[in-house]
Amino acid sequence: MRLPLRLTFLILFLILASCNLSAPKQAAPPTLVLVTADPNASPTPTPFQPADSNYIPVNAPTLASTFTPLPPTNTPLPTLEFTATVLPSPTTVPSSARTQYTLYALLDYYGHQLAVDETVAYTNQTGLALSDILLIVEPNLRGGFALEHVLSNSNPLDYDLNGNRLSVYLPQPLMPNSQVTLAMRFRISIPAKVKEHPYGYDVDQVNLTDWYPFVAPYSNGWVLHEESYLGEHLVYDAADFEVNVKTTEGNIVIAASGVPEPNGEWTRYRLNGARTFALSASDQFKVVEAASGGAQIRSYYYPGYETQGLAILNAAVRAVGLWEGQFAPYPYSSLSIVQADLNDGQEYDGLIFLATKFYNEYNGSARSNLVAIGVHEVAHQWWFGLVGSDQALEPWLDEALCVYSEALFYRYIYPNSYDWWWNFRVNYFGPSGYVDTTVYEAPTFRAYVNAVYLNGANFMEALHYRMGDDAFFRFLQDYASRYGRGRATAYDFFAVARQNTTADISDLVRAYFRGGY
Ligand SMILES: [Zn+2]
Repeated sequence: MRLPLRLTFLILFLILASCNLSAPKQAAPPTLVLVTADPNASPTPTPFQPADSNYIPVNAPTLASTFTPLPPTNTPLPTLEFTATVLPSPTTVPSSARTQYTLYALLDYYGHQLAVDETVAYTNQTGLALSDILLIVEPNLRGGFALEHVLSNSNPLDYDLNGNRLSVYLPQPLMPNSQVTLAMRFRISIPAKVKEHPYGYDVDQVNLTDWYPFVAPYSNGWVLHEESYLGEHLVYDAADFEVNVKTTEGNIVIAASGVPEPNGEWTRYRLNGARTFALSASDQFKVVEAASGGAQIRSYYYPGYETQGLAILNAAVRAVGLWEGQFAPYPYSSLSIVQADLNDGQEYDGLIFLATKFYNEYNGSARSNLVAIGVHEVAHQWWFGLVGSDQALEPWLDEALCVYSEALFYRYIYPNSYDWWWNFRVNYFGPSGYVDTTVYEAPTFRAYVNAVYLNGANFMEALHYRMGDDAFFRFLQDYASRYGRGRATAYDFFAVARQNTTADISDLVRAYFRGGY
């Protein structure tokens, strides 16, 4: 039954693709929409403007293959019981000192329940003997999180769970370069989702983001910042994930941070050198798929949004192809683009969410939030995923680079829309303020965005112009290479920049930053 379906879809896709490619400018322009930007837009991770009415067609993506979700199966509905009572041995011996997470997650989609067995193999790279380990438990801030135990060698360990801080006390100090394996079991009664954040359930999907305890980075102490309404607060070390998922119903499609593979009755995903593993489940998802470089890109959308699902797939294919040359190879083997009922877009490793409103207002043009915000979230695969940074204290390190990555996308892929992009995304707001503003300092969301994101893009453009193309891209590649799978600071950024140019950039630093870099 799968083959005819796939063939039908493939043929349909080819017809659509060839139509778009052969006659890109023949389509009727969309209905004009009056644009009024709201300078006091609600706080969201990726600020945007309403849709523009100019019409630039987006070509169809390079077609690698199509993907049709499996039809519903008739398996009896089981109860939500743990089946991974004894965790299987790791399938491979970890060769790196990165923290290794192995999860078995059983999802009751319609009941909004999750049961998880998790093991964390942590190697102490702090240089100090540790008597406790701090894990971050974001679900405990949202309600419904219940931790059943924390074990080491089958022995229960003492712990304190306060808010999102889980302190696990070790029976004896963990010496530098030594490893401890923690086994945890927890359940989540998944809360209802709000439009400000993907985590939780709504009528269309269940999103699991930062849904398991993970070890806080250590840098002169455990790094865990307070939440801020202006921007993200979490800091992550790169880690390796093996995530096994099973649903109690058979008709659920799962978008995830990795490529699915069978593992007995489980579906297994592996993701190495990543900050976090996210997934989104829905009983309605449709999927189109393409390849770009080494990445398998899948666009998950709801029925009725085929055009938009293809458009963002196409934009992502082009963005990945462009940035693989300009920055670094795409860091993972896959990218899932997930439509969701949100105010905005949100990035995770190998998975991005995009607001349904962008799909609704899509005008068939690259001059749209769907494409601009979509590729912004794709850029976070390099500036957040590959090169980590402190999102709370130095948010410009990922956000300014991602906004500027949008500029590069339009400059090289849609040069006729390059000026439009600067006016639509940056100049309209007359951005000002120090680029190195933290998520705790700005008086308003608009002030924060203007300084960190938009003036950050102005700075990147000034830096690019000062250095010239060759030195600028050599710098970005050097920066991604040195700090890939690690974390960079502003000092690192400027040190690598200066090593790649003979130009004096000190006046730019003084103009845009208050820090003396
Ligand atoms: Zn962003």
